[in-house]
Amino acid sequence: MPQPKERVIALIDMDAFFASIEQRDNPALRGKPLFIAGSHTKKGVVTTCSYEARKYGCHSGMPVIEAWRRCPHGLFFPGSQGKYSYASMRILQICKRFTPVVEPFSIDEMFLDVSGCLRLFGSKRVIGEGIRGAVRDELDLPSSVGIAPNKLLAKLASKLAKPDGVYIIEPEDVSALMEDLPVESLFGVGEKTAEKLKLLGIHTAGQLGRYPADILSRKFGVGGCKLHRMGLGQDDSPVVAEAESERPKSISNETTFYSATNNPEHLLKVLLSLVHKVAFRLRKHDARARTVRLTVRTEDFVTHTHRHTLRHTIFFDTDLYDEICALFREVDTGALRIRLLGVGVSNLVFDEEPSQLRLFEDFDNRDVLTARAVDSIKKRFGESAIKIGDSRQTF
Ligand SMILES: [Mg+2]
Repeated sequence: MPQPKERVIALIDMDAFFASIEQRDNPALRGKPLFIAGSHTKKGVVTTCSYEARKYGCHSGMPVIEAWRRCPHGLFFPGSQGKYSYASMRILQICKRFTPVVEPFSIDEMFLDVSGCLRLFGSKRVIGEGIRGAVRDELDLPSSVGIAPNKLLAKLASKLAKPDGVYIIEPEDVSALMEDLPVESLFGVGEKTAEKLKLLGIHTAGQLGRYPADILSRKFGVGGCKLHRMGLGQDDSPVVAEAESERPKSISNETTFYSATNNPEHLLKVLLSLVHKVAFRLRKHDARARTVRLTVRTEDFVTHTHRHTLRHTIFFDTDLYDEICALFREVDTGALRIRLLGVGVSNLVFDEEPSQLRLFEDFDNRDVLTARAVDSIKKRFGESAIKIGDSRQTF
């Protein structure tokens, strides 16, 4: 019997991407604590900061006001999205020289499935150093590359590779590595999940992997099984190459409730999180939507769909949320509780030219910058990292 082929997944993650680009282009900024933040107001959030700024305990996702408090002599820049997108596109092109299976995961992270080209290049290290070296030589930017048997571990390896290095996790090293790894270091385990796990006495990935999967399933629902596998360092999700021609007709996300509910606050929160997901995917495809759809399934399993077609197109979370809330106000389920909510968009319009550059002309620069910055933070820290302020949830 032929042995199943070893999966080899690489993740290139740029080091302090936006800040590194600014430092590359302006020598006066090199060696300085530099912050890229979409907005300088109190509500603004740091998108990226240079390694010099990290010495002061600053990090991406931190409120600008807090970063400024910790590092008062820091230099704050709004950033230049067009430049970042261009660099991102160049990185993608470099990755595609190594394998056609490249998944741009965020503006500064790309997964590569290099299983098929390992023999061609000779070794994992050659591939890792090759990608990093090409990005360094051609773009003059630092990056880190993680190589591992799957995406979960490649993500972890890229963190271990930082800054400016290559880290390889061999299949035989996985169980030892998992043993003492804090659960929150597993990509996809957020703060809340980590807290819940700790209540069960699970602090490390090793403990998570040994914990009975059926109890995890009872506590975490469908996610329980996935958590168990994460604890074992297992993940079979594929690297999905996004072909440029791949254009969806519609985009939607839905949530089924464990128990039916009529709690408006909860329902609006769920709608908001669905809106975030849909708008994020919309922007990922450089698309804008003309038709907005709300799906509501009641506890009697009847599905109600409400649609609205707009004269203009939308792609910001706030605009989509406003439309969805307007549709939600029309919903009349009587005394029946709600079992499922879905948010969808269709009638999509695609931007033909390299998106961000063109978007600059059409939309308020700062809004686009903020939306994209939020997207990249979400990809790094998970969906819950940033939400529209709570004030928008009043209904
Ligand atoms: Mg990065």
